Amino acid sequence: MQPLFNTLEPQVLFQEVPDEVSLGFTITGCKLRCEGCHSEEIWDGNLGVSLTNEAFAAYLKKYEGFITCVLFFGGEWHAECVF
Ligand code: SF4
Repeated sequence: MQPLFNTLEPQVLFQEVPDEVSLGFTITGCKLRCEGCHSEEIWDGNLGVSLTNEAFAAYLKKYEGFITCVLFFGGEWHAECVF
């Protein structure tokens, strides 16, 4: 299966969404190049691992019963895949 895009290893997050346990994926390859960017390392789209449908399903299975939502940070540049 073709990779959707690369992401950093997902993190379990407790504060981003109130009353939810989130699995957060940071999508790499940001093309926005904001001045003063807090995460310039994620401008590199080769950073991280390919998030194929199979890999995404495997993460959901791994955290099944623990997480209550999934978050994607970034990814506007892959809108056709993320949304
Ligand atoms: S990672 Fe965030 S702050 Fe940095 S360039 Fe991209 S959108 Fe801007």
